[in-house]
Amino acid sequence: MASNEQPDGFQPSSTSDASVGPSTRSVHAGEERQKPHNAITDAIYLSSTFTFADNDEVIEFVTSSASRHEYGRYSNPSEQVVEQKLAELEGGESAVLFASGMAALTTLMLAKLRAGDEIVFFDECYHRSREFCAKHLAKFGVVTHQVKTGDFDAFERSINPQTRMLVAECPTNPHLSVIDVDRFAAIGRRHRVTTLIDATLATPINLRPLEHGVDLVMHSATKYLGGHNDLLAGVVIGSAKALEDVRYLRGIVGGINSPHSCYLLQRGIKTLALRMQQHNKNGQALAEFLASHPKVDRVWYPGLSSHRDFETARTQMRGFGGLITFTLKGDAQAASKLVSSVRIPKIGPSLGGVESLIEQPLYMSYFSMTPEQRAAVGIEDSMIRVALGIEDTGDLLADFAQALAQLPEPARSTDHASARS
Ligand code: PLP
Repeated sequence: MASNEQPDGFQPSSTSDASVGPSTRSVHAGEERQKPHNAITDAIYLSSTFTFADNDEVIEFVTSSASRHEYGRYSNPSEQVVEQKLAELEGGESAVLFASGMAALTTLMLAKLRAGDEIVFFDECYHRSREFCAKHLAKFGVVTHQVKTGDFDAFERSINPQTRMLVAECPTNPHLSVIDVDRFAAIGRRHRVTTLIDATLATPINLRPLEHGVDLVMHSATKYLGGHNDLLAGVVIGSAKALEDVRYLRGIVGGINSPHSCYLLQRGIKTLALRMQQHNKNGQALAEFLASHPKVDRVWYPGLSSHRDFETARTQMRGFGGLITFTLKGDAQAASKLVSSVRIPKIGPSLGGVESLIEQPLYMSYFSMTPEQRAAVGIEDSMIRVALGIEDTGDLLADFAQALAQLPEPARSTDHASARS
C-alpha cells in the first residue's frame, strides 16, 4: 500500500483546506463523516489480523495496489485516523505513527542511514536520541557529530559529503532554546541534506516546522499530543515519498502502536488547541511570576524577553508552552524543599499532560552523571523543571507562592539575576 493511501474506502474529511483552523482540524481531520453504525466516535478494532472473503480477494490484494488492512504490524484502522489527523495538523502530506517517540526516532534513523553516513545534532536534543545515534548506530558505522545548540557556523562546518541528516529540537528540554528554523532548513537545502526537527515541546499549535522548509518533523506524542499522561506514542511527519521507507521498516521492526492507544491519542488530539491555550497561558504567567520573585535566581522560558532566544521565539512561535526551568538562590536542598512543598504539581518525569509535573533534574534524569558532566550540559543543583498542566493559572501561582514562602530568605550577597536568562 502506498504510504499515503487509506484502506477500506477511507474518506478523510476535507480539513486539509488551508483556511481550516487548528481546532476544527484537531476534531475532524482524518475521520469519516458517517461511521459504522452511525456512531459519532470511531471504533477500536482490537484485531491483529484482517481477513479476506475469498482467495480472489487475496490475489487482488497481492497483485494490485488495493488498499486494505492485512496484519496488525503493518497498519490498523485506529492508527490510520490518527496519522491523517497529525499530518493535517502539521501541514504534512503523510505521517507514520509509532509505539513511542523513541520508536519513531530509531526507526526513522535505521531507515535513512547506512554505514559511512554521518549525522549532525544540536547538543540539546533529547539525550536518548543522541545516545541512540552516538552509541548504537556507531556499531553499524554511522558517525554522529554534536554541535552547541544555536551555533549555526559550527553546525554548517560539520557537514561533509557523507552527511545525510541534520537534527534539531525546538524548543529544547530543559533549557528551552529556540533555534532559527528558517536558517536550519536553508542549511539543509544548501547541502542537500535531510533536516529533522523534534518539535515535541512546540506542538503544531505553537510551531509548524514544515512551513519553514524543514523536511521531517517528529514528536513524542506521549506529551502534548496525547495530553493526558495515559499513553506512549511517537510520530514522524513529512512528504509521502520521504516516509515510504520509514513506514516499510516499521512493518519489519514492529514499533506500531496498539489500536487502544491510538484511540486514546485520537481523543487527546481533539482538545489539543484548547489545551495548548491553557498550557501557554500558565507557562507565561508562572515564568513572569518566577522571574520577578526574590528567591528565584534564573528562569528559562522562551516567552520572557530576558531569554536568549526570545526574538527568534517571538517571530516564529504562536505560543511558548507549559515547560519552565528555573534555579533558586539556594542550594540543592532548597530546590528539594520547593519540589516537595508544591501541592498541585506532582513529582515525576514527562510533560505535556493536563496534570502539572515537577522535578529536580539533579535527581530525576541526571543523577547518574558526575557533577562535571552535569555542569557540561548546563544542569545546576538548584535547578527545577516544571511541566505545567491545564489547571487554573491563579491556583498554580498561589501554589508556587506558598512553596517559595517556605524557603529561607536568600543571603544578601547573592544577586537577583533572572534577567540573565
Ligand atoms: N523527544 C523529546 C523532546 C522527549 O522529551 C522525549 C521523551 O521524553 C522523546 C523524544 C522520546 O519520546 P517517548 O518517551 O515517547 O519515547
